[in-house]
Amino acid sequence: MKVVTLRVSLIFLAAGAALLGQQNGAVTARQVIERIQGHVGVPWRSETVDTFKAGDPETVVTGVATTMMATYDVLVRSAAAGKNLIITHEPTFYSHLDKTDTLEKEQDAVWAEKERFIKEHHLVVWRFHDHWHLRRPDGIMTGMVRALQWGGFQSKTDPSLFAFPEMTVAQLAEQMKKRLGIHVLRVVGDPHMKFTKLGFAPGASGPQHHREMLQKDSVEVLAIGEVPEWETIEYVSDASSEGKKKALILLGHIPSEQAGMEYCAEWLKTFVKEVPVEFVATREPFWLAR
Ligand SMILES: [Zn+2]
Repeated sequence: MKVVTLRVSLIFLAAGAALLGQQNGAVTARQVIERIQGHVGVPWRSETVDTFKAGDPETVVTGVATTMMATYDVLVRSAAAGKNLIITHEPTFYSHLDKTDTLEKEQDAVWAEKERFIKEHHLVVWRFHDHWHLRRPDGIMTGMVRALQWGGFQSKTDPSLFAFPEMTVAQLAEQMKKRLGIHVLRVVGDPHMKFTKLGFAPGASGPQHHREMLQKDSVEVLAIGEVPEWETIEYVSDASSEGKKKALILLGHIPSEQAGMEYCAEWLKTFVKEVPVEFVATREPFWLAR
């Protein structure tokens, strides 16, 4: 009898604790974002793309996924893993401001399916771009430098500049391809060109910024995420044809910043403890023809 009573009390105790835990542990998407705003270490801007893009911010979070781009594939894998708050570095709806009015007007089928999936699975998508870059040191650069194992070569005064022991452009391209796990990495310029000075501009920082970096003597090779082919690519092609010591490495947007969102998951875990936080890798979209 005594044993039975004890067992029943234990069950009540366990159920009570579970209920209490659930109440104390429940955190909404909006609360997670408010916590990020409190921890990021820079004043929150009134004009920013770091806003909710889809879903209800009051949704109770079951798990957090950080990712480079909230692609349909990432959403499916996040939902399957029980993560309903997706924190994405880049847009969800195919443009910087994630405006959907035109897609809606066109009744675009690709967009409609993504919307349907988000609604059906009660997902919430929030973008974390501007302030992750504004953080000091820049959250994306921190993760990328770690993945590239370049900490020892980084300039103390300008974190986008690196000085290496002499190597060729082909050797650098191979090293970056391997360390970042890239399938399609493109290079402009002479593969045999020896260099020591590199500039690193992950993502799509724009042709003006690329050119300003390439104009410096401290940049012989520039590694970027992406740019239209008639801008920086044509510029470096001309520089190379003119015999100037310049080369360009195109990593692709996703691999050029992705490790920064892997680092973001680690950072989030230090102050979001109620629910699991996981990095969900965005797949590189390209493959090589034979
Ligand atoms: Zn970025």
